[in-house]
Amino acid sequence: MHPGVVTVNLDAIARNINTLRQRALGTELMAIVKADAYGHGLGPVSIAALEAGATWLGVAQVSEALSLRALLDQAGFSPTRAPILTWIATPGTNWASLITAHIDLAVSWTWVLDEICHAAHACGTRARIHIKVDTGMLRAGSTLEDLPALAQAAAEAQRAGLVEIVGLFSHLSRADEPTPQGEASTMAHIQRFCDAQDILRHAGIEPALCHLGASSGLLWHPDAHFDMVRPGIALYGLSPDPEVASGDELGLWPALRLTSQLTSVKRAEAGQTVSYGGTWAAPTSRWLGLIPLGYADGIPRSASNQGAWVLIETAHGPLRATQVGRICMDQFVVDLGSAERGAPAPAAVGDTVVLIGDTRRVEPSADDWARAAGTINYEIVTRLGDRLTRTWTRDSAMSDATSTSDTTEGKPWTH
Ligand SMILES: *Cc1c(COP(=O)(O)O)cnc(C)c1O
Repeated sequence: MHPGVVTVNLDAIARNINTLRQRALGTELMAIVKADAYGHGLGPVSIAALEAGATWLGVAQVSEALSLRALLDQAGFSPTRAPILTWIATPGTNWASLITAHIDLAVSWTWVLDEICHAAHACGTRARIHIKVDTGMLRAGSTLEDLPALAQAAAEAQRAGLVEIVGLFSHLSRADEPTPQGEASTMAHIQRFCDAQDILRHAGIEPALCHLGASSGLLWHPDAHFDMVRPGIALYGLSPDPEVASGDELGLWPALRLTSQLTSVKRAEAGQTVSYGGTWAAPTSRWLGLIPLGYADGIPRSASNQGAWVLIETAHGPLRATQVGRICMDQFVVDLGSAERGAPAPAAVGDTVVLIGDTRRVEPSADDWARAAGTINYEIVTRLGDRLTRTWTRDSAMSDATSTSDTTEGKPWTH
C-alpha cells in the first residue's frame, strides 16, 4: 500500500448533487466525470451521482466513455438509465464501438458527422448526437458561420436514419467572472447560443436538450441553464472560483481527503537548509517533519516554499505545519515549530497528516495547494497520482460541519 491515501466520501457528492439541483430546478443534470471523475474515481462517483439524481454523465475522451459504459453495465445501469455524452473527437476514432455502446457523441464539424454517419451505416445503428456550437470559447464547436451547413447535413443524416439529433450545446469561457467583462462575455455566449437554436430550427431541427452551463454557469447564471446543466468541479465540493465564493460559502462539501503519515521528526539548527538547492533555511532551531508524498503523487513542486500547509493529528491535538524547502518526487518537509531551549518535538513518527481535507475543520484544502502552486483546484485534484491508495466511503457525518467542527475548536494552533 502506498502511504498516501485518498478517501472519497460519496455521501458528500450525493449531497452536492442535491444542493446543485436546488439551484437549477426543472433541468436535467449531467454529472461531469472526466479525468477519472476529477481524480475521485470514475466508477464509484458515477454510480453515486446517478443514485443521487444526476440524469446524465459526461466525459471528455471517448476512451473514458467506453470504460464508463462497461462499469455501468457491470453495476446494472442500462443506457437509458445512464446516458453518457463524450465530446472530444479525433480523426479515425472507432465510432462504431461508441455507437454500439449507446454513447452520445458531440459533433462540432462536418468531418466528425461524416465519420459518424459512415460508422452508423456500417453497424446499422442510428448514432445519437449533440451538435456543439462555439459561442465564444474558440475551442471546439461549430462557428455560427459554419453552423447552417452543419445543421443541414445533420438534418439530412437524421432523415436518412443515420443519426438522431438529441442535443445542442456549448461551453462558457468566463462564467466565473463577476466583472463587467465577465458578465458581457456570458451574455454574448447566451445570445450566440440562442442564434444557434434559430439556425437549427431553420434547418428543421428542434433538439430536446439544449445545454450550456457548467458549474459556474449553474451557480451564477440562471439564464444559462436551458434544458440541462453540466457541473463538474462543484460536484466534488469545490468552487469553480474560490475568489468569488468558496465551496463552503456555496454550501458544498469537499468529497476528497488526502492523508499520509509522518515518517521522520528531526531537529534543524538555525541556518541549516532543507532539501535540494537549500531554498529554505531554518531561521532558528526548528523541528522538521517528513511526509512520504511528492510531485510524482501530484503534490505540485511549484508549491515549494509558497506557504502550503498540512494538518498533523498529534497526541496533543492538531498541529498546523508549513511546507518548507523544495518538494521532491516522493517526499517533502514541513516545519513543525520551534526546537529552541530544548522544546520537545511537537509531533511523532506515525502521526496522521492531512494534506487535503475539510476547511470547516480547519484542514488544508485543494484551494490552498492551488494558491501555493499558482494554479486552480481542478488541477490539484485531477493530478493526484495513480499510485495513491484510493478508498470510497459513505459518511454523511464526516462531512457535516456542525457535527465535526468541535474536533478543532478551542485547540491551540501552533506553527
Ligand atoms: C469540464 C467541462 C464541464 C464541467 O466544468 P466545471 O467547471 O468543472 O463544472 C462541463 N462541460 C464541458 C464541455 C466540460 O469540458
